[in-house]
Amino acid sequence: GEGTLTAANVDDMAARSMPLCMKQLHRGLQRDHKLKHQGRLQYGLFLKGAGMTLEEHTLYFQREFTRIMTGEQFNKQYAYSIRHTHGKEGKRASYTPYNCTRIILGNPPQSGAEHHGCPFRHYDDASLSALLGQLKIGNTVDRDAIMAHKRDGNFQLACSRHFEAVHPGAIALEGVSLDGVGNHPNAWFSASVSYYN
Ligand code: SF4
Repeated sequence: GEGTLTAANVDDMAARSMPLCMKQLHRGLQRDHKLKHQGRLQYGLFLKGAGMTLEEHTLYFQREFTRIMTGEQFNKQYAYSIRHTHGKEGKRASYTPYNCTRIILGNPPQSGAEHHGCPFRHYDDASLSALLGQLKIGNTVDRDAIMAHKRDGNFQLACSRHFEAVHPGAIALEGVSLDGVGNHPNAWFSASVSYYN
């Protein structure tokens, strides 16, 4: 809900409760101290949907971006679009966080500098397998099952299997809804948060 995700806890929450697509955007931002346009949109709308306020979103991005630019440059080039994401500028439209179908069917990331997209869809087998190992996601059985879904083109099933691997027993827990897991990154996040509550 509102205010659960902050600039101060986003690193821990990314490690614990974000689906792979958002983990990669989090890592990309942490590594490069910036995100390309499509990444800022996909990640920013997810953060908003996960309850991060405009103030916290600005603090978080400012903290990362100002490692490679001045505060003035950040304000000039990026603060506006963050307010825009939260519907505070322009037409004050309310932008809805992307669901999995939109991310999977969207433009694939073009280079190492782009971190948007769905890793289950957009990474090749070797890169995805290496990433699962690096992040220590599940055991060998879990990783084989995830890779089999990916190879069959069942990207959303691969993502649900990732969720199950890192939230043992979630299916049997009361108050944890797995309904949207594999359909929406924010559902994956909410299910994880309620699992740990
Ligand atoms: Fe993200 Fe959806 Fe892909 Fe999972 S299936 S990594 S939530 S886009």
